[in-house]
Amino acid sequence: MAAKLELVPLNDWGFFHLPPRPCVVAGPCSAESEEQVMETARGLKAIGINVFRAGIWKPRTHPGCFEGVGVPGLKWMSRVQKELGMKICTEVASEKHVFECLKHGVDMVWLGARTTANPFLVQEIAEALRDTDIPVLVKNPVNPDLDLWIGAFERLNAQGIKKLGAIHRGVSSASKIKYRNAPQWEMAVDLRYRYPDLPLFADPSHMGGKREYLYELSQRAMDLGLDGLMIESHCDPSCALSDAAQQLTPSAVIELLESLVVRDAATADEEFNDRLRELRAQIDVLDENLIFALASRMKVSRKIGSLKKDNCVAIVQPGRWDEVLEKVSSSAEGYGLDPDFIRRIFNLIHDASVAEQNK
Ligand code: PEP
Ligand code: MN
Repeated sequence: MAAKLELVPLNDWGFFHLPPRPCVVAGPCSAESEEQVMETARGLKAIGINVFRAGIWKPRTHPGCFEGVGVPGLKWMSRVQKELGMKICTEVASEKHVFECLKHGVDMVWLGARTTANPFLVQEIAEALRDTDIPVLVKNPVNPDLDLWIGAFERLNAQGIKKLGAIHRGVSSASKIKYRNAPQWEMAVDLRYRYPDLPLFADPSHMGGKREYLYELSQRAMDLGLDGLMIESHCDPSCALSDAAQQLTPSAVIELLESLVVRDAATADEEFNDRLRELRAQIDVLDENLIFALASRMKVSRKIGSLKKDNCVAIVQPGRWDEVLEKVSSSAEGYGLDPDFIRRIFNLIHDASVAEQNK
């Protein structure tokens, strides 16, 4: 059972102000040189962005790739903070990183996806941050495990860290997909449902992996009511030492932000609210019908289970299930439903029936 989190609202961090959405954190994947950091930060400041990110220690898939500039980069970031008045933030993956950040006056840190997946590291970082007041953003783990993500917030909160936010950056996928990391919007929405006061950001850059996908992913984040975006931006993206294909120039960042259509979560328009209530009432009835249909199906499934048992027949006949899947997916197509979605639902229903027949 997930614990309650004690949280400081986003507007009280002194970093962002809602509305309007999105709150934006932007900056290069990696700090590469003092010139690149300063030029990018100036470009972002000029378009009204106040929270600057840059990776100082970079987790790379292969050794020998550019692994970040380390501590000297923190000095360049302090210049951004002092000369441009921006808040500065970077990724920490160990207690050593935390101590260096604290020493250099970093305003906010984030935990990367690989770190969130490791409770030992999260615990070590949480303890190193104890008694500080700096906000911590936590990316989802590389695998789609909501509890592991929540566990990281619990560990940080247990050390007194209350300025917490989540960043959805997609998850690794074994199959080939168009994005670099598959969005798991349902996981982000589930997190919001469980912790409505936990600020929620999306990272369209690491999700998309390519500049061309950033707009659609950012728009989706806004449509789902997320509070903010973390966007990678570089003064000269094609020359970036890491993640060159997904970084935007500061002027492309403002172009993207200005093209987003951001709808309010609620409105005082009575006509709209009446129509919404009516449609929601219809959905409630349909959901009730779905539950009834599932319960009726389960009853029949139990009868099949005992019939098979009485006649010494195995519970699963694979051929039969393939037929069912074939039938429901072609029927789904007829109704304009995604057959893949229906297959996934029916596989879950089937698993539950088999478990019931096994009892
Ligand atoms: C990053 O933000 O630079 C980064 C490495 O992201 P992630 O942890 O999402 O891969
Ligand atoms: Mn990156």
